[in-house]
Amino acid sequence: MKQSDKDKISALCKEHKAIDYKFIDPKSVVVRYWPRFKCQYGCGAYGKNLCCPPHAPSPDDTKKILDDFSLGLLVHFGGDVRVTKAIASIEREVFLLNYYKAISFGAGPCRLCKECSLTDCKIPKLARPSMEACGIDVYATAHNNDLPIHVLTNKEQSENCYALLLIE
Ligand code: SF4
Repeated sequence: MKQSDKDKISALCKEHKAIDYKFIDPKSVVVRYWPRFKCQYGCGAYGKNLCCPPHAPSPDDTKKILDDFSLGLLVHFGGDVRVTKAIASIEREVFLLNYYKAISFGAGPCRLCKECSLTDCKIPKLARPSMEACGIDVYATAHNNDLPIHVLTNKEQSENCYALLLIE
């Protein structure tokens, strides 16, 4: 990727209030089966929107998708940002820079509609599955790339949220 494009993407991350961002090797993204267990047993959004399991891409599909890309952008946000909306908007701008394969993964369940249609998405420009819904171990992926994340133990601690954009 040209340095001028990297500079434009960096500016987009800042515009969308990212704390930090890193261009990464997609091979550093860790995909496991257990994150979906946590979705199924422990999250009230399971099965309730098209971006969550069982509708989101399976871990096996995610591994295959990652193999299709040579570059990733891991973006670190605080808890005050609508992460999925931000990464979907960045994805659109990167697509317009002629990176026609650009796809993104957000954080948390899709909350764009009051109730998901569960058949055809009403806001396809902004609806993206979360990293964890697709089987990505967000903690291990952030740590692989020297970015911070840890389990919060009280409400005073600040949240570390991540989104991933695959580019080529
Ligand atoms: S945008 Fe609406 S219809 Fe699409 S996945 Fe999200 S909640 Fe469902």
